[in-house]
Amino acid sequence: MGKKMDHQLTLGEQVKIARKLKKLSQVEFADKCNLNIRTIQRIENNEVKPRLFTLRIIEEVLDIELFTKFDDDTESEELQKLRNVFEKRKQTRMFTFIAAIFLLVTTLFLILSGIPKHIWAPFIYLLFFADFIVIGISWRCPGCNCLLGDVFNIKYCSKCGLKFYD
Ligand SMILES: [Zn+2]
Repeated sequence: MGKKMDHQLTLGEQVKIARKLKKLSQVEFADKCNLNIRTIQRIENNEVKPRLFTLRIIEEVLDIELFTKFDDDTESEELQKLRNVFEKRKQTRMFTFIAAIFLLVTTLFLILSGIPKHIWAPFIYLLFFADFIVIGISWRCPGCNCLLGDVFNIKYCSKCGLKFYD
């Protein structure tokens, strides 16, 4: 671990001072941390309580030891909890993906079958709508709750830096 920061300072002040000592702009710093610049700004302005793994990335990049009131056990426990939530959400996301394909195939079948559209369309539309609602609610980062994109290859959240896998 690097230089210990003054515990009298707020977390945001500690980060800002350490960043300036390293002569990094917010943009450069955000880049090195693989974090969104808005996240860095919010942390430095004490607008958010960053997740512990985000703090660890910051400490690594700035070579400092930030003063926080949490210990390592709390950290790994918290991280594990978030990863478990992510796994559950990923399963839900896979289910909605399969459901969407199934609905498309069913729709195609119904169109080709010649069954009048007004009989099945409202039902199918409702199912599509429900599927999208579930995606919108569930496919979010457990760390910052932002909507996630790619389901298959996503490894970390680009907003808060939460790593979903090691
Ligand atoms: Zn996030």
